[in-house]
Amino acid sequence: MLGRRARDQGELVFAGSLRELIPGDHVLVRVDRVLDLGWLRTEVADCYAAGSGRPGIDPEAAVRLMLAGLLLGIVHDRRLMREAAVNIAIRWFAGYGLTEALPDHSSLTRIRQRWGAERFRLVFTRTVEACVAAGIAKGEVVHIDSSLVRADVSWEAIARKHADAVEAANGPTEPVCRTAPDASLATSNRARRVEPAYKQHTAVDAEAGVVLDVAVTTGAQHDTRNVEGQFDAVRATTRVPIRIATMDASYAITCVLAALEARGIEAVIPAKAERPPKRGTIPERRFKLDAKHRIVRCPAGKVLRPHGVPDSDGFQHYRARIPDCEPCCLRAICFSTTMRRRAILLHKDHPALLRARRKYAGWGPRERTLYRCHRRQVEGVHGEAKTWHGLARAIRRGLANMQSQAFLTAAVINLKRLARAAMMALLAALAVGAAPGSTQHRHPSPTGSSPARCAIQTPAAILQQAQGVGITPRPWNTAAPRCGGP
Ligand code: SF4
Repeated sequence: MLGRRARDQGELVFAGSLRELIPGDHVLVRVDRVLDLGWLRTEVADCYAAGSGRPGIDPEAAVRLMLAGLLLGIVHDRRLMREAAVNIAIRWFAGYGLTEALPDHSSLTRIRQRWGAERFRLVFTRTVEACVAAGIAKGEVVHIDSSLVRADVSWEAIARKHADAVEAANGPTEPVCRTAPDASLATSNRARRVEPAYKQHTAVDAEAGVVLDVAVTTGAQHDTRNVEGQFDAVRATTRVPIRIATMDASYAITCVLAALEARGIEAVIPAKAERPPKRGTIPERRFKLDAKHRIVRCPAGKVLRPHGVPDSDGFQHYRARIPDCEPCCLRAICFSTTMRRRAILLHKDHPALLRARRKYAGWGPRERTLYRCHRRQVEGVHGEAKTWHGLARAIRRGLANMQSQAFLTAAVINLKRLARAAMMALLAALAVGAAPGSTQHRHPSPTGSSPARCAIQTPAAILQQAQGVGITPRPWNTAAPRCGGP
């Protein structure tokens, strides 16, 4: 029989919690179970006048609105607040009643400006600490990569840094974006064209893909410039020394490899062999650097000595002596006929590069598994952030705004991981049945719903509940082997 529904329903009358109207598996409900922002008010108190002025928006409510937007893929404040006006789940998640007035969208912008990017870094860092406490991140095996984020500017905003007359006098100049000068023109292997962009550098934990650190730079900055800072940031957040770091081939440069060796971190980086030299001359790898005595020995056993001082990146020119090269039998294949002696440019830590190349040539199943995991985890995080949480394009202009966006997006991804782990732990505990002690940790449901759907506030409580009945759930390990190293 055909059903019929009248469309002139009367005014909604509702008593109880909005939570009862939202499905238990809604992403905001799942994230709310693991989200704890009770610390935030103290952290941002210094941004507000004490005891005077109009009361501002509750800091927790503001961050919850921003997180809800990113979780649902609504990245623009104006659209978010329009959606929140009619979306019961967002209202409940942010702590607003059904008929309560919501803040104006511009208030969220002012809060971002007032707090600065560092407060949002704290929100992100707390999610990492929660993931570490819940056991879904360890910080021992870290995948590092970077990704370009298209700046929120039009092509018409791209201009030359100097006037044409200056350019004529000084040669070609660097293009600069007038509306977002921090967004430099950049491209990647997969990008089709050069675009004004920022670059997000991301460190992801190997256990369950928790984002351990994000840093945002201008798009043209090389991937490797930020690596050491990320090692320090990850170490500071997880308080665990990094054991293994995986990176792609663009990170296989001497200073990165030397930094990894100095920190005792095993590098899993595909350091490709040296490209064959032009015109079949003797390749650089045949020249042996003696870093201790600052000399290089050539294939004929002669000594090349430093010429000039090393540049700021640590590269040093070494030159052979003309009297050594002129009678040498290898001269014809050592350098071009227009030169009188061989000169090479080596980094002071060149042996680290040679060791990495040798290691890559001998990669076994363990290293290949780690590198496959790297591609899945870190590129997966970038794809997830861009596809589902609006990181494909910067929402606002300026490096600070971009950093805030990156921190909140990473926090959202971590909260999803945490919510999933908590849910799986809870399901595992429930599957065991009414074991002793398993029910006494459950919070009474304020809405009278079943205990399985009640609002448990922290993952630690849920994991403790699971462990209380002898379970250490690791649902992400069941489908594929972990790649956390040996
Ligand atoms: S040409 Fe000079 S640098 Fe080259 S192998 Fe001979 S002595 Fe060494």
